[in-house]
Amino acid sequence: MAMIPLPEAQSVVLEGTPVLDPHEVDFTAASGLVIADRVLGTELVPPLDNTAVDGYAVRSADVASVPVELTVVGEVAAGAATDHVLAEGETIRIMTGAPIPAGCDAVVMVEDSERLGVVDGAERVRLTASVEAGSAIRPAGDDVRPGDVLFEPGTPVTPAVLGVLAGANCRRVSVYPAARVAVLCTGDELVDEDRPLRPGEVRESNRRMVVGLVAETGCAVTDLGIVRDDEAELERVLLDAAADHDAIVTTGGVSMGDYDVVKAVLGRIADMTWMQVAIKPAKPFAFGHIGGVPVFGLPGNPVSSLVSFEMFARPALRRMMGHTRLARPSVVAVADEALGRRPDGKVHLMRVEATFGEDGRCHVVPVRAQGSHQLAATATANAIAVVPDGDGLSAGDDVAVLLLG
Ligand code: AMP
Ligand code: MG
Repeated sequence: MAMIPLPEAQSVVLEGTPVLDPHEVDFTAASGLVIADRVLGTELVPPLDNTAVDGYAVRSADVASVPVELTVVGEVAAGAATDHVLAEGETIRIMTGAPIPAGCDAVVMVEDSERLGVVDGAERVRLTASVEAGSAIRPAGDDVRPGDVLFEPGTPVTPAVLGVLAGANCRRVSVYPAARVAVLCTGDELVDEDRPLRPGEVRESNRRMVVGLVAETGCAVTDLGIVRDDEAELERVLLDAAADHDAIVTTGGVSMGDYDVVKAVLGRIADMTWMQVAIKPAKPFAFGHIGGVPVFGLPGNPVSSLVSFEMFARPALRRMMGHTRLARPSVVAVADEALGRRPDGKVHLMRVEATFGEDGRCHVVPVRAQGSHQLAATATANAIAVVPDGDGLSAGDDVAVLLLG
């Protein structure tokens, strides 16, 4: 089977992955989801002109020449208001966020004041700084006005976005749902429990990893555990999963050549495309649908599972959930050590440790082992270096890097 270039394989997957139908939710349930319809402002934020500082609300004309002594006729804290209309020679003590009283056009900050106490029955203050009209006043609607476009479709609801929705009283928002994703691992050799291994057995590791990766992508994950290499059992589990999930991720059993129950079952109940992708690791990969539900068949070697998830499943799951930026952020980094390889027709996706240097550039070094079974080394990586086919890169060369963290 001819190898498929990575971008071509990624296109097959993205084109075969539907975007889920959006629905309206209370904004408090939108955290981590992606906005589906433009969000418009409905109210003024802030609702009233208010003060940006603690100090004294004044008529700027009264403080044109300083120092000047004024009569303190009241006090307003945030959450309070006053009906008093400020007259010449008067001031009102005011706290950050409090509405600007009528008649005032500026605020002198408390640092530029000196309390004089009660003089002739009136509380007096000396102000030592002149301020222009509008000074330290945050006008109503300075942040949000009715009709403002706050967020376009495709915006992830981050904590800051959630804050805006709350602050602007946008109570109902249309969002894409979190994809419901079933994860299962296959292989008779896999052992999950804490007991000595018998010859031929290996400890299961992909399941915990892939469940975590799916959750980290923002999906609602169902852990279906290890499914034994039994066709009837695997078929039942896959069909059940397809009935109430938006996607299925499997690991193991997708390599070329050897007979595998995963291939036999998926070949029967799904429209799988079995691929040999021109990358290392993670060359074998399968993608298809069971009753319209996308199935991502990741290879079993743990590092291959991780890299395959990153290259195919993560972008596709993000697409399902309405994200528009599907790929990891990428930068051109400096290889601080050689990234050695031989020509083999594949792009090598080397796991590296990336740091930002004082030169403002990203620098990478390969993690200590690059085998597709050596998850311990790969787990220390925070980036993937894309090393093109050929004889590798020397120390000091530029290399494209996908940042994982
Ligand atoms: P497969 O893709 O099923 O041919 O598996 C390739 C290699 O990965 C074999 O050495 C398997 O034992 C190993 N492997 C498969 N699944 C897992 C898993 N869930 N955890 C750890 N190793 C696995
Ligand atoms: Mg297997």
